[in-house]
Amino acid sequence: MSNFQYFMPTKVFCGKDIISKNKSLFGNYGKKAFIITGKNSSKINGSLEDVINALNESEIEYCIFNNVEENPSIETVETAVEIGRNEKVDFLIGIGGGSPIDAAKAIGILINNPEYNGYDIFTAPPLASLPLIAVPTTAGTGTEVTPYAILTDNKARTKRNFGQKVFPEIALLDASYLMNTPDNITINTAVDALSHLIEGYLSIKSNLLSDSAAEKGLLLFWECIDALKDKDFSFEIREKLLLSSTLGGIVIAQSGTSLPHGMGYALTYSKNIPHGKANGLLLKSYLELCGNNPKVKNILSILELNSLDKFGQFILNLVVKDCSVTEAEIRNYTKSMISNTSKLKNHPGEVTEKDIYEMYITSLL
Ligand code: NAP
Ligand code: ZN
Repeated sequence: MSNFQYFMPTKVFCGKDIISKNKSLFGNYGKKAFIITGKNSSKINGSLEDVINALNESEIEYCIFNNVEENPSIETVETAVEIGRNEKVDFLIGIGGGSPIDAAKAIGILINNPEYNGYDIFTAPPLASLPLIAVPTTAGTGTEVTPYAILTDNKARTKRNFGQKVFPEIALLDASYLMNTPDNITINTAVDALSHLIEGYLSIKSNLLSDSAAEKGLLLFWECIDALKDKDFSFEIREKLLLSSTLGGIVIAQSGTSLPHGMGYALTYSKNIPHGKANGLLLKSYLELCGNNPKVKNILSILELNSLDKFGQFILNLVVKDCSVTEAEIRNYTKSMISNTSKLKNHPGEVTEKDIYEMYITSLL
């Protein structure tokens, strides 16, 4: 228990009006910012305007790339990198869900290392990024406190981690930006956060500190269960979901994710199933696979779902099992997952091809 490392260097600030209250921080990272965001939501929820006001008041120049799609591709990253290099930006501000913040991590690496381009990022040695400030507007990925960025690799026809490590310098959390999130996005992202807490807690790389974060994150999630069932999201609930997501990020920054994430990427790439929903559909069968681990009992007890069946019903109440996947497709996904050593190694114990196949079958058919 005492033999572990813990590293999470991101400074986290949380509260209403957190951007304007901390606008003096932006000047620490340079004279020109590159804002990376999605197509619409940051304009609507006020986060983009708050960042622009803070930059103007601090007399920091900026340019904006607002074309990051869900599950961002390397091609999108390349387009933004070209703009950022021409504009000679000093630092990045990623605003939005996991997609723009992850894209910003890759963009920061490639702007800072002009000898590398696009797909090189997966195979390059460890590289330093430009500084990144993260403003999450979904409560799911926890990317504001993880070193990972999940990109769509159209050559390998899947999603994968970019192989670099970029912790944001600062994470600015204000649940006000999440107030008008549509129910389906709120729920899918909350299930993503739950998956991080569960996979990270069960990971072979978990330790005392990540377990403390996971247990607190699960407790916060439990406090939101009725709101999730009723789709009734007050500011307090939004803030709890956001903090549970950030705790999930703190957990997986240490422990990584494992089977549900590795197996879910194929569903997102080939069936367009949102990331959180894909994980959620696989979670109950993953807990069954981990049945002998005493931590499974802890998870169910914190969530006050006293059996795996109750857990399964709770998840299926949130995410509908409506994906049309064939048995032949499942055999292909299984083959690809059994070679995904980066995810398999985080599971405590051996996993066979049959285990993965059966997890897919019981979860999806
Ligand atoms: P997302 O793909 O960033 O965004 C999903 C949708 O939500 C978009 O349509 C977006 O609109 C909208 N949206 C964002 N904030 C909103 C708000 N406040 N109100 C209304 N709509 C809002 O979703 P995500 O689930 O946060 O991120 C998923 C990505 O993160 C996946 O690629 C996943 O693999 C990755 N991920 C990364 C990590 C990590 O540690 N790096 C961990 C888990 C998952 P706009 O496009 O208009 O902004
Ligand atoms: Zn995730």
